Amino acid sequence: MTYGNGASESAIAITRPLIPDDILAELKAVATVRVWPSHETPSPDDLAALFDGASGVISTSADRLTESVIAGLPELRVVSQNAMGTDNLDMEALSRRRIPVGYTPDVLTEATADLTWALILAVGRRIADADRYVRRGDWTDRRWDIFLGLEMAGATLGVIGFGRIGRAVARRATGFGMRVVCHSRAAHDDPTVHAWLGLDELLATSDVVSVHVPLTAETRSLIGRRELDLMRPTAILVNASRGGVVDQLALVDALHHGRLSGAGLDVFQTEPLAPGDPILDAPNCVVVPHIGSATQVTRRRMARIAADNVLAGLSGRRLPHCANPQIYDG
Ligand code: NAP
Repeated sequence: MTYGNGASESAIAITRPLIPDDILAELKAVATVRVWPSHETPSPDDLAALFDGASGVISTSADRLTESVIAGLPELRVVSQNAMGTDNLDMEALSRRRIPVGYTPDVLTEATADLTWALILAVGRRIADADRYVRRGDWTDRRWDIFLGLEMAGATLGVIGFGRIGRAVARRATGFGMRVVCHSRAAHDDPTVHAWLGLDELLATSDVVSVHVPLTAETRSLIGRRELDLMRPTAILVNASRGGVVDQLALVDALHHGRLSGAGLDVFQTEPLAPGDPILDAPNCVVVPHIGSATQVTRRRMARIAADNVLAGLSGRRLPHCANPQIYDG
């Protein structure tokens, strides 16, 4: 598969139909563009065919650009990730070749913080279970002892990873009257934070733990069995970062055995979740399909940045949003 018409020097491969038509037209004005036509993740063979001859790639967090995939793309000049996280890309291999990697920080912060709060409230107040209860026709009396949830006012929110989204989640917590404690690589001066804690102390003292670190070698399975055991049995865990940060089977076990009261997950170790995945049977676990950034406004802004990054890379300009700016040094 090649970029056929030879109308232009540049060729852009896009791994999903995610760029709105008007922005796509701007890309087509300067390059030959090939769009993977399906919303299903392309197989490695499909990706190789799609990327063949590409000088620019627009990717999603589900597309794995490994060292060998990158080595097979001699014309590649820019990768523009339509996401904040870049854990699916071999950043070292790309940076070694001084290929700039674009990403979409900031524009998805508020939408992802909102979704995190939707999960905190859904799990803390048992919204999904209560909704199913009503639909099943079980709401036949006025019992006072069902769906008793977590009182947010006065409770402690533990934020792990105090970056853009962690900060936005913490800011919302002050409106709920919560005490906010944080764990990050470095303490920041922030009026919303009551205390900076080590990870173990945060886990042991929080009523709600919300994870906002990138997936790296250091953070993979950051929340495993040992960490879950440190949490209060009345506490809830929310993860809208990356699935690999939480050991999902350890979480299932903790929920089944009452060592944790609930969990809200936007992200999973394998996406999409397979039918019958054990997490689906875990009690008081709310699962949504990686929709942190899913508002119309945010998705359009992400596409805009992804296009601007790829256009800058193809024309040799510095990317407006670059995840490996060190390649420009020296
Ligand atoms: P960010 O601004 O880069 O913040 C990440 C924070 O994590 C930084 O404060 C960083 O510390 C901290 N951190 C990194 N490694 C750590 C470690 N080992 N222990 C403790 N803290 C650590 O990123 P963001 O915009 O908030 O996004 C965070 C992640 O959310 C992204 O990487 C992405 O994977 C995920 N995300 C998911 C969705 C979704 O749809 N669910 C949407 C957007 C983003 P430093 O300040 O020291 O670097």
